[in-house]
Amino acid sequence: MALHSEQDSTDDYLFKIVLLGDSGVGKSNLLARYARNEFFANSKSTIGVEFQTQKMEINGKEVKAQIWDTAGQERFRAVTSAYYRGAVGALLVYDITRRQTFDSISRWLHELHTHCDMNVITILVGNKKDLKDAREVSTADGKSLAETESLFFMETSALDSSNVNAAFETIVKEIYNILSKKVM
Ligand code: GDP
Ligand code: MG
Repeated sequence: MALHSEQDSTDDYLFKIVLLGDSGVGKSNLLARYARNEFFANSKSTIGVEFQTQKMEINGKEVKAQIWDTAGQERFRAVTSAYYRGAVGALLVYDITRRQTFDSISRWLHELHTHCDMNVITILVGNKKDLKDAREVSTADGKSLAETESLFFMETSALDSSNVNAAFETIVKEIYNILSKKVM
């Protein structure tokens, strides 16, 4: 019986996480790879998905991450406050082959901090690391920005799957660690 009520209490672990970054950096594909192990070459497929709920087990507890995707409104710099509301984690994504998407990160970070708590757990994600020959942003530049802004950092590829699970899991584990300490 005691075991049962403990399992029930794990329903409390539901975290909202938002994907942010310029259009075309691979946000929807990162989510598709993580949640469904899929990749799509045509970015039009982005439209429609609002969020995906993904289950994880941490310290024997079930944790659910509700991961929100922008569904294209970032193209018009019109991500609504409803999108940010209640988020406890964020993935700030740029494309390592387009410098401009890296330069936009400070704007996304500013917008995130305008809408959310300053303590929102954030990871900086340099996506498309499979495109080595087209790289415009060095790993060192990514790391350095992450250190300056106190963000986690990872380079990923939604195409070949590298570090995709790790990026999402880093965020979820960190949120869990911080919130479970607060509860205790
Ligand atoms: P979003 O606008 O940020 O949601 O970006 P999408 O997920 O729609 O991806 C934009 C384009 O980049 C699509 O053509 C994807 O196939 C491509 N893409 C996304 N991630 C990667 C990746 O890791 N590597 C490569 N080579 N292409 C990617
Ligand atoms: Mg998209």
